[in-house]
This record gives sequence, C-alpha cells and structure tokens, in this order.
Amino acid sequence: MSFGHQVLATDGAARAGLLHTAHGAVETPVFMPVGTAGTVKAMTADQVRATGAGLVLGNTYHLMLRPGADRVERLGGLHRFMDWPGPILTDSGGFQVMSLAGLRTMDEGGVTFRSHLDGSAHRLTPESATQIQHKLDATITMVLDECTPFPATPAQAEASMALSMRWAVRSRDAFVPRPGYGQFGIVQGSVFPDLRAASAEALTAIGFEGYAVGGLAVGEGQATMLSVLDSAVPRLPADRPRYLMGVGTPDDLLAAVARGIDMFDCVMPTRAGRTARGFTSRGVLNLRNARHAEDAGPLDEGCACTACTRHSRAYLHHLFRANEMLGPMLLTQHNLTYYQSLMRGMRAAITERRLQAHADEIRAAWAAGNTR
Ligand SMILES: [Zn+2]
Repeated sequence: MSFGHQVLATDGAARAGLLHTAHGAVETPVFMPVGTAGTVKAMTADQVRATGAGLVLGNTYHLMLRPGADRVERLGGLHRFMDWPGPILTDSGGFQVMSLAGLRTMDEGGVTFRSHLDGSAHRLTPESATQIQHKLDATITMVLDECTPFPATPAQAEASMALSMRWAVRSRDAFVPRPGYGQFGIVQGSVFPDLRAASAEALTAIGFEGYAVGGLAVGEGQATMLSVLDSAVPRLPADRPRYLMGVGTPDDLLAAVARGIDMFDCVMPTRAGRTARGFTSRGVLNLRNARHAEDAGPLDEGCACTACTRHSRAYLHHLFRANEMLGPMLLTQHNLTYYQSLMRGMRAAITERRLQAHADEIRAAWAAGNTR
C-alpha cells in the first residue's frame, strides 16, 4: 500500500478524501486525538476507536524520554505498545523542546535540552528526530523545525524559517522511505504572508508525502491564522494532504476545512474533558456549574456517546464536584465523539457541496446556546 491522499470530492477549496497508509485508510478531513505519552488520556484504545477516530498523534519528546524510543522499538513499535493498529502520526519533539525556556540551547545542528523529568541532557537534531520516529514506527513522521516564537519581527521570523527549511532538507535525507509511510514538511514564517509563501515553496521543492502548517494557535488570533492559511495553502501541492498543527476550536476547524486543510490535532477536546468543559451542538458548557445539578437531560441531544446515552448532566456535574475520575473519562469520551461527529458532518457536506450552509447551521446552533 503506497502512502497517498485521494481527493474524492471538493467544495470550493475544501476537500473530502481518503488518506491511504500502511496502517489502513482514514477519511479526511480528519481530527487526530492527541495521545501524548502513548495514551489518549483517560481513554482505552477501544474507547478512542468508538469515538470514530482513525488516526492518533503521539509526542516524540515525551516518548523519547519515557519509556524511550529503543524500548518502544524492542516492544514491537508504538502501534503494538499502545494497542493502536491504525495509523499514528508523531510530532518531531521540536515544539515541546522549544517551549522548555531556560532548559535548552539551539544551534545550527540542533537543540540541546534538559529533560523536565530528571534534568538529564539530551540532543535533538533533524536526523535524530527522524530516527526516533522511525524506531517508534510512526506512520507519519514530522520534520524537526523551530516553532518561531510569537510575536517575532520579520527579521527574526525569516531567520527562524530559513533554519527550519535547512533542517527540513536534513530531515528528508534522514527519512527511510517505506511503502505506506510518509514524512511531512512544516510551513513556518510566523504571520508574514511572503515568508509563509516562501516556506511553502521551499518545502514543495524538497518534496514530502504531505505538508503541515505550523507555528499557529500561539496567540495570533483566528483572523490572522486564517490569513496565514490563505498565503500558504494555495502554494502546496493539491495532491498531497495538508495538516494544520495544534488547531483548534470547533469553529477553527470549520474555517480551516473551508480553506483546504485535511488534518488537525489539538489537545482541546481531551484537556477540556478533564476540566469539566463539554463541547456540544449548542456551544461549550461547564459541567461544574450549579445549573446542571438537577438536570436529568443528556449533555448533548443526539450524541451517541456513553456520557450522553447513559447519563444525565446532573450525574456528570456530581462526578466533577466529587472529583471522581469517571467524570474526566466520560467527558473526554464525549468531547472526542463531538469532534469526530463535527468532522463527519463536514465530510458529508463537502460531498454534497453545501459546506458553507452546513457551517452556518452549526454556528447558528452554537449561538442559540444552551437554553436548558
Ligand atoms: Zn456525548
């Protein structure tokens, strides 16, 4: 099975398709739950599958430190280790390492850092980040890049982007091609349209199985993020998948799919699920709020998840007030189910060429809010 993205339908810039990989095919646009340390927090692998997820993300930084890439490799790779036979995308570790302020030093060769776990010294280079992801048996490997700090001056952003493009060449050279596996380059350039365009063109010249847009959702706001997509996405090859990293809210997903993004990951639904915030068809609500204390109705009408079909808002409210672990487990399951149903709805709407009307309906229901 060769790696590839088959576009089955388009609606404006939006695409619905199939991503073919060595570990099976997934429908796009796709949302990837984040399985940071080889687990989507509070969920069994079966529960993650039951939400409709087909592709999950693992974090190289966390896995290289604990349990270590060599150990994961000896145990048969990340798919077997975490019971996820489907495709797995791993990040390069760069984003987490760059955010270790005071614990890392960068140079042309790579980045040296101290583990947040035990203070031990480590070094990540474009080559080692690629090799570690190989040992993890990642279906999709990401290049090591510098996540440009925000805000940055044009000169800072240009220097950072240029470094990431040199690292992209080295990452590509270190990647071992295998049938059904792919490596994605990452567009950088902060909020500057000319830099984003130059980065997209440089990566296309190197040639990757897919392309990501990185360095967003770092405080620039949705309007700026979307304008960056407008500069970058049209310059990426139409026959390759496009991945918007670390995004985002349900509204961000609606807006980015309309601009031709095929893949997303974000901690938002899982993190919110552990902090009593539920995403619903009528907006976001806080289950700790007293108004849910005697509400016998479901969290979200029409949702097929366990939290919604078997339990009341009052029960979920009680679980969070009592700090019971079942609260985060049920709400994470619900939030991921909501995100997957959002993606499924968009895929159907693209096929029917009514994505704009579909997005308008969803936004109107959020705006009408939770009246109960
Ligand atoms: Zn639900």
